[in-house]
Amino acid sequence: MKKLLFGALVLSFMSACNNDTISNQEDASQDPGTASGMTASKRACPSDLIREKALKSDPALRARFEANELQSENFLRDLSMGKVLADGTVEIPVVFNVIYNTSSQNVSDARIAEQIAVLNADYGATNSDINKIPAAFQPSAAGNVKISFKLVATNRKQSTKTGWRSDLEEMKKSTTGGINATDPTKNMNIWVVNSILDEDSQPGTLGYAYYPESAGLWYDGLVIGYQYIGKTGASAPFNLGRTVTHEVGHYLNLPHLWGSSNTGCQTDYSNDTPASPGPNFGTPSYPLNKVCGGVSRSQMFMNYMDYVDDKAMFMFSANQKTRMQAVVAAAGPRAGLR
Ligand SMILES: [Zn+2]
Repeated sequence: MKKLLFGALVLSFMSACNNDTISNQEDASQDPGTASGMTASKRACPSDLIREKALKSDPALRARFEANELQSENFLRDLSMGKVLADGTVEIPVVFNVIYNTSSQNVSDARIAEQIAVLNADYGATNSDINKIPAAFQPSAAGNVKISFKLVATNRKQSTKTGWRSDLEEMKKSTTGGINATDPTKNMNIWVVNSILDEDSQPGTLGYAYYPESAGLWYDGLVIGYQYIGKTGASAPFNLGRTVTHEVGHYLNLPHLWGSSNTGCQTDYSNDTPASPGPNFGTPSYPLNKVCGGVSRSQMFMNYMDYVDDKAMFMFSANQKTRMQAVVAAAGPRAGLR
């Protein structure tokens, strides 16, 4: 950490002095005395003096200086908290809120640990099935997304409820039998429930999540059915923890490959995921071509943002990585997670 900071200081010094050199050269061209090729005997760098003078006379410049210093201070503090790791990986603190009726729905600490491990493998591109990416899609594979996950708390609550309405967010309020979020500006909350119900009280949802425009709101986070957490005891074919991988994708601003509406063939804002008319299910065989706008394209159905079975999805694209990085960047909507 110290090394990094020192490096940054050296860099900024070097650039300041380079600028200074340039201005000296400009001066020199107008000054016949130095144009003759006089060599300095002592190092002199007036960057700070020049800066001081400028900051005194220009309040807007001073405001920018102060903002930069604050940003550096925050960056340093985040490093000291271990949230931005030395290699630049952003480590997201995760809070599990498990609400169960029967004991089998009370997913074990071991299963939660498995889920965190799946997230770290999938987002770190160390998942064992990454070698299955078809050659044609390998150039657009994300590699290490440089976002990792660290479990910081697990809250548990027994409830008589057998289903939880997603539209009412019942699981996220103690007043409706749920568990309140743990500071959603700083933690990714995951609620685990026995059954997610739609607005007509119908079950069938594996999970859902909120996009970054909801960052920090009381309902921000993921909701996942207990059947789909981790691997051991999870329900096939959704038993490799990838429901959470997919929902975290939404949390980090990734739409489905076919866009945010059911119409299909809409943008997902990533240029390296081929246009798609709608979800793929099960375990499709590669290649699989589908048509959008009259053009047939090979589908990237093995992307985590499709609907295929857990064992059939194993990649993010490079553009998707960039989008997720933008969300957790220092100036991004989920910077508080850093
Ligand atoms: Zn989804």
